[in-house]
Amino acid sequence: MSTEKLEKAKSLIKSLKEKNYLKLRRSIGTGMYLFNLLKDYLSITYLDLLKEFDRLPIQKRIAILEQVEKVVESASSNIVVFYNFDNIPKKTIESFFIDVDKLSVLSEKEKKLLKAFGIRDLYSALWFLPIRYEDRRINTSIITAKAGKKVTLKVSVLESGYNANEKYPAFVKVKDSTDTMYLKFRFKSPKALIPFKVGSTLIVYGTLKEFNKQKYMVHPKILRDYEVGNILPFYNVRGDVGIKSVNTKHKKLRETLSKLVEYAKSIKEYLPNEVLQKHNFPKIGESLYFLHKPPPIDIVDELNNFQSIYQKRLIYEELLLFQLALRLRKLKVESLPAIVIGSDAQEHLENFKSRLPFKLTLPQEKVIHEALESMSSGKPMNRLLQGDVGSGKTVVAMALSYILAKHGYQSAVMVPTEILAFQHYKNFESLLSPMGIKVGLLVGSVKGVRRKSLYKHVKDGDIDIVIGTHALIQEGLEFKKLGLVIIDEQHRFGVLQRKILMEKAKGVYPHCLVMSATPIPRTLALSIYGDLDVSIIDQLPQGRKPVITRLMFDSEFERVLEFVKREMQQGNKVYVVYPLIEESEKTDLKAATVEYKRWQSLFPDRNVILLHGKMKDEQKQEVLKEFKEKGHILVSTTVIEVGIDIPEATVMVIESAHKFGLSQLHQLRGRVGRSDKQGFCFLVVPDNIKNQDSDTLKRLGILVRTNDGFKIAEEDLKIRGPGELLGASQSGYFGFNIANLNRLLDTKLLQVAKEDALFILEKDSKLANLVDLKKVILKRYSQKLDLGHIA
Ligand code: ADP
Ligand code: MG
Repeated sequence: MSTEKLEKAKSLIKSLKEKNYLKLRRSIGTGMYLFNLLKDYLSITYLDLLKEFDRLPIQKRIAILEQVEKVVESASSNIVVFYNFDNIPKKTIESFFIDVDKLSVLSEKEKKLLKAFGIRDLYSALWFLPIRYEDRRINTSIITAKAGKKVTLKVSVLESGYNANEKYPAFVKVKDSTDTMYLKFRFKSPKALIPFKVGSTLIVYGTLKEFNKQKYMVHPKILRDYEVGNILPFYNVRGDVGIKSVNTKHKKLRETLSKLVEYAKSIKEYLPNEVLQKHNFPKIGESLYFLHKPPPIDIVDELNNFQSIYQKRLIYEELLLFQLALRLRKLKVESLPAIVIGSDAQEHLENFKSRLPFKLTLPQEKVIHEALESMSSGKPMNRLLQGDVGSGKTVVAMALSYILAKHGYQSAVMVPTEILAFQHYKNFESLLSPMGIKVGLLVGSVKGVRRKSLYKHVKDGDIDIVIGTHALIQEGLEFKKLGLVIIDEQHRFGVLQRKILMEKAKGVYPHCLVMSATPIPRTLALSIYGDLDVSIIDQLPQGRKPVITRLMFDSEFERVLEFVKREMQQGNKVYVVYPLIEESEKTDLKAATVEYKRWQSLFPDRNVILLHGKMKDEQKQEVLKEFKEKGHILVSTTVIEVGIDIPEATVMVIESAHKFGLSQLHQLRGRVGRSDKQGFCFLVVPDNIKNQDSDTLKRLGILVRTNDGFKIAEEDLKIRGPGELLGASQSGYFGFNIANLNRLLDTKLLQVAKEDALFILEKDSKLANLVDLKKVILKRYSQKLDLGHIA
């Protein structure tokens, strides 16, 4: 950017100021001229002021000019780099991994404080970054400050008063050289106004508001002199760290970290130069330093939106390191010796297919072939299978584990709930045991002698396929020859759990298939699961009719009931889902336990059954079994969201549907229409939503219009961001300090980072020339991603 215009503006302002603003008093069109010179440098606030500048009285013009001059002064330094630590000697990267305890600049109390925040070493202390900033510079005036912005103002008191009938009974009228404004307080008594003596000077910080051309602030912070003049960082101080006051926490953390940030000056850059130059990113030391100690410039809005180039660099870095770690892992895993499936796999598959009550869909065939190909390639398979609800992923798992069993290897199938484990067990068992395959079930409620005997059979290799919940990763379970690990509904599990299960295959690296019904757009999936191959089932089994979905208001509930009645007369079953188990005073949402009674009284001669998440797992299984065998209506919470497969169920009624996410509703809807019978889904919402919340209606309308899980996921992604979509267990997995996949910008950076990671590894697949970078990756990810062997 050329600084020519900036210099011109500077000298113009200087000359306008001469002789007590003589030139300014006489000038015409100065505002527009300055506007044009400074277009690229000033924020919109100032540009707006310059637009109306020429029409304003001289006093206001002077005030604006003075503000603009200050900004222009700092703008000139904004173009060049703020901090430059190139001349400061650099230390080894390991010296930043030093324990907090060994940092002699810190007091014992400060060390304790950092540890209470989970900060163990210098590196993580520097990466403990502010989550917001406040501009505590007095760099604006009442007239120049824009309504809606947080500003610091130096003012003097004109008068104060109290009017008990007002919402804010206490007011203080203040002025600066440009204008007057009001400070409003909710004080209970006029006594609280005593400190605001007429004529005294105050420095106030708060959001400037405007009503009827009158500016005011509500309960501003009254700052002391030493609190003024900087951009103040605020850290995430949530959690109990032994200090009660939030203000004190902020202050102590700020003091402690500002000591440590001096170390940032001596960090040697570890990202490749090409990459930094390509994106015009500042160096690591400068970035960390800047974010902990921002210079007094106009940057708070950018910082608070995570848009500054310094934040972008760190976000990018986290994403790049993550991508590199995933790639390294993939390369490493691919180099390990693997179980090789022989050429007779095809024969076994044909045999398996001949026993199926249906014909596999094309995508199912394709996915099975892709998996078999991986498993006979000599490399361990690491595959993600994505497929919409009801697309038939389970049968893929069955086919593969059957073929493995025929080759003498065991399979473990891990699912998130006991209900699902039980259901899978039944399905596997009924198809595979007539073919001579032994299937076992391991869930929390299998205890005592039964568990012991199961452990023994698995260890001896008498059981070919074990289906279970988290119970599978417990220590007791040992395999004779584990060859395939299958994780169903994988977004419910962390990577660590997958890893523990896989380690049960002693001496070899087993094949792994993870399955997910949360369809993530392909590009994102590839970035997030960079270490996996992705297979997709993008077609439902034949004859499956899309579930007919209707949006209904509470007042139309009679019609829903009529419909339910008719379906039951035809021998079909009904699910009704509520967001809550029990009633709560806090909301007027409906609760399953209460509504269950209502359904019972509505249909006294039908078998109405209750299911919810607080029931014991064994009880849940009993309940589902009863529903499957002789139930008519199942009143439930979202525990049935995952995997339940009862083909006779044709109606899904979801009450308070506005409380659920789109993907979740789609999952729930997927519980019906799982056979050739037509499925129906009613999304029931309160009537008053019509006038209150048109967004929600629009959102739910998407479900009415489409049955395509990928489209729905994409809409959900726009609304909630991928972080949510991926489920809670994944966020810890990433372990990011600043990157946040719920921010659109960050998902864009993820794409960039992915491409760069490939580029870097293409040239240097072992990071042999980027030793420091490798050390940082290992530091961050060796535990999380099991990268120990890469070191
Ligand atoms: P999801 O992908 O949601 O886990 P499931 O594996 O539970 O789906 O399959 C849903 C239903 O579709 C099951 O009842 C299953 O037996 C049936 N199914 C699976 N594949 C086919 C097919 N190719 N033709 C007909 N029905 C199928
Ligand atoms: Mg499933």
